[in-house]
Amino acid sequence: MGAISSKSSPLHHKTPLIHSIPMSEELGIPVYLKMDALQPPGSFKLRGMGLACQRAKDRGAEKLVSSSGGNAGLAVAYAGKQLKLPTVVVVPETTPEFIRDRLRTYGAEVVVHGKVWAEANGKAIEIADATKGVLMHPYEGEDAWEGHGSLVQEIAEELETPPGAIIASVGGGGLVLGILEGLKAVGWLKTVPVIACETVGADCFSAAVNAGERVTLPGITSVAKSLGASQVSETLYERKQNEEIWGEMRSWVATDAAAVKACVRFANQHRVLVEPACGAALAAVYEKSPALEGCKSVVVEVCGGAIVDMPSLRKLADDCGVDLEA
Ligand SMILES: *Cc1c(COP(=O)(O)O)cnc(C)c1O
Repeated sequence: MGAISSKSSPLHHKTPLIHSIPMSEELGIPVYLKMDALQPPGSFKLRGMGLACQRAKDRGAEKLVSSSGGNAGLAVAYAGKQLKLPTVVVVPETTPEFIRDRLRTYGAEVVVHGKVWAEANGKAIEIADATKGVLMHPYEGEDAWEGHGSLVQEIAEELETPPGAIIASVGGGGLVLGILEGLKAVGWLKTVPVIACETVGADCFSAAVNAGERVTLPGITSVAKSLGASQVSETLYERKQNEEIWGEMRSWVATDAAAVKACVRFANQHRVLVEPACGAALAAVYEKSPALEGCKSVVVEVCGGAIVDMPSLRKLADDCGVDLEA
């Protein structure tokens, strides 16, 4: 992967890398936060989806199509608006009204179809085929991984020495695949391990590592819905099998309560709201995960997530028995 090449400049923002004083004090080593929660649609997804959408346009796409009612859909809708390309997001009936509204504020056409995601996805494929549209996958695709990799390049521009590890959440695996691409681009593949974080009940990467094969989770029972892929990307699983090439990947799984508590503590310490999907990565620090053993510093990829607000975080905290003054 070289520098990002596209006819136009990137759609994502360069985000701050901040030294967290409270988290460093707690963990006893420097903790840096890569603040991707600040991307306009609310998550890191704009990095990869933005580049993938730009490339699709360069290749002649006349429409962008997504079947994600989550952060991937928001990123595609936002990218479509920037690129002035018509965008359709097909969501199942279960997608809440406030998400549909937010997608519309980015100029996307929202099509509600089916009871479950598979039905919405089928419709999205149909629309893409019929309209010279391109269906944007939420976590697969080399363009998306290259785009996510930009976050590592930004870290490398700011830190004088490589960090002891990069901590990131895993859903389907696109973010971690992007981090691996970024590590490769800056020559850090063998020096910087990736701590791949999930929650109990959305732990398809950990399940695959433990089983020695890519298992399918029977269902997603975690509150971290943005981590809810039932199977991890085949590419990520293969790279995990080839750590002598791709570098060390350590798997760590937080409880829902630890992930929610991490969101609350992070909001109190750093005044930024993130989803439990991101809380999983923050929890590795707050819970002093054994996966961090031997690290002399860490960078947490604060991947963010837009599907959270004060009332929903309070409700999650209540349901998980977490004190808001945590
Ligand atoms: C998509 C997403 C993830 C997981 O990313 P994958 O590429 O699916 O592994 C984690 N956190 C948030 C907030 C997300 O939107």
